[in-house]
Amino acid sequence: MAKILIANWKSNPRDIKSAVKLAKAIDGKNVVIAPPFPFLEAIHKVIKKSALGAQNVFWADGPYTGEISADDLKALKVKYVIVGHSERRKNLKETDRMINLKVKEVIKSGLKVVLCVGEPLNIRKRGIKSAKNFVVKQLTKDLIGVGKKSGALLLVAYEPVWSISTEKGSKPDTPEDAVLMIEFIRGWLKKRGLKSAKVIYGGSVNKGNAESFLHKKGIEGALIGGASLRPLEFKKIKSSII
Ligand code: PEP
Repeated sequence: MAKILIANWKSNPRDIKSAVKLAKAIDGKNVVIAPPFPFLEAIHKVIKKSALGAQNVFWADGPYTGEISADDLKALKVKYVIVGHSERRKNLKETDRMINLKVKEVIKSGLKVVLCVGEPLNIRKRGIKSAKNFVVKQLTKDLIGVGKKSGALLLVAYEPVWSISTEKGSKPDTPEDAVLMIEFIRGWLKKRGLKSAKVIYGGSVNKGNAESFLHKKGIEGALIGGASLRPLEFKKIKSSII
């Protein structure tokens, strides 16, 4: 089955012209481009093969100043919505309860949800068993009320917090440990009736290590931050899975 690459641009680039240029450069089949909200419309107009993604959503539609609903995103032709990224959990104090509401709202709108889970460094230091327990707690809370039929709309991104390139002293997980965690997550999802859900890896994927992650059978794709802003590098990552 084709692997998916999700480009999480965070707050980059600075202006619409650069965003359009970057989108054209990384456009491709099985690529999701998740730019900042103000660039969604312009990027939708220029991409030919990629799908459009959003980096966040609000859990309701209505009078919520400054928020963007799943239906707003749908109207902008967004197909995938990232929810629960560790930067939002940490810096914006998003709780599992808030994340659960967002997950359900995205699914209700018929969009695909990219749910990010992953343990912080202090947990991983205690061993892989602690990491598994931590992630199961997140999944259990984040997926409350998500029924079996929603599996096809769910992607889980396993992103150990300490491996994300913006974290101080970050380093990628080993592909072996990433597979271990991902297979564990897949097993948990299956038991929960969500067997069509995909599980991908995120955390410092770059042109040097992409093959070692993406050639692993169990890893169904990658969520890519920093390297998705560098077109040549992103293309190299993409070519490593074809
Ligand atoms: C991310 O922000 O989800 C991410 C994986 O970033 P990076 O690839 O830069 O580590």
